[in-house]
Amino acid sequence: MGQPPIITSLASQLGPLHKRHRAASQFPLRESVHLPLAQALELLEKQASFVLEGQLRSMETTALAGSSWLRGRYMPYRNQKPGFQKVPHDLGSTQNPRCRLCPSNDPLMEIHRGPFRIASNLFRYGESSLLLLPEPHLQQQGFANQAAVAIELMSSMGSAYTFFYNGLKGNSQEHLHIQALKETLPIRAALQQKALACSPLGEGTGTSWHLINPQGSLGESNPFYGIHLVSQKASELPDEVIWLMQQQDAWSGSLACYHLVFWFETTGTAHAVLMPRSQRSPCLGGSQLSSLAYAGMPMFVYPGDHPQHYSGEQVLGTLQAGLRIWSKAELMQVQQRML
Ligand SMILES: [Zn+2]
Repeated sequence: MGQPPIITSLASQLGPLHKRHRAASQFPLRESVHLPLAQALELLEKQASFVLEGQLRSMETTALAGSSWLRGRYMPYRNQKPGFQKVPHDLGSTQNPRCRLCPSNDPLMEIHRGPFRIASNLFRYGESSLLLLPEPHLQQQGFANQAAVAIELMSSMGSAYTFFYNGLKGNSQEHLHIQALKETLPIRAALQQKALACSPLGEGTGTSWHLINPQGSLGESNPFYGIHLVSQKASELPDEVIWLMQQQDAWSGSLACYHLVFWFETTGTAHAVLMPRSQRSPCLGGSQLSSLAYAGMPMFVYPGDHPQHYSGEQVLGTLQAGLRIWSKAELMQVQQRML
């Protein structure tokens, strides 16, 4: 059985990655196909693996010494070229010429679902690396405005995906974007396997809250990693997540200073982890830590800068240096939410 026609036609035109945009300008292609979401995602992933696979050369994911749950990813061929996503003007955004994540005439396949597009991330984080992008243009710190729709879309993509988002600070792109990887990221695996110490904070209406503390006991002197929310239904999650984000915004005095990780079980149970950020942007191996690092998997992208050079303790310490520690009074306010 051959490849589905859309893949064959796109693949024959796109050629090697560095010629992608030139090829596209010679062969503009726009077709709309109505497909079930699962099938559309499969096509999107196949196209990305064909066009963008060069970035996966020598990719390795390894455990970090001394940690039961952290992983490091080595990706020396990951696209690092800052200008890469800056497409030529004639292929750029039709809505906002300065934004590279707004709709464009780029020939890569996209999935349109309500106010969101699902597109391949040109800066790969792994074998499957997608972006969820609202349209029209919305600022990165506007997650709360789209939380309900975004959570519904994420849950409809299925349990194989883990999603992550980071607030505006340190982002290269200002257009709201949620990352999706079709893999179980370390923080999810650790929470499923109870490899991270968690203290129950309480039960809301259908949602339970847990404080994650990889060092064991709680207290103002022990930095914690975040709050894990578990809802029996995805539809119950947005209100709780939005409330928590708003508290964090108020306490830190700035907007959207947090990392978020989401995943959804086949049973319908929905999970979110919120990690408040400090004003610091910690670096490891010369790279600023991405939001993937806060999902338990820092990326090492320079040749020779292999995760085996770092211990779990070193990585955890670096991660914690980038997190904002909530005071007991703030945590008590969180607990009041459940009463
Ligand atoms: Zn935009």
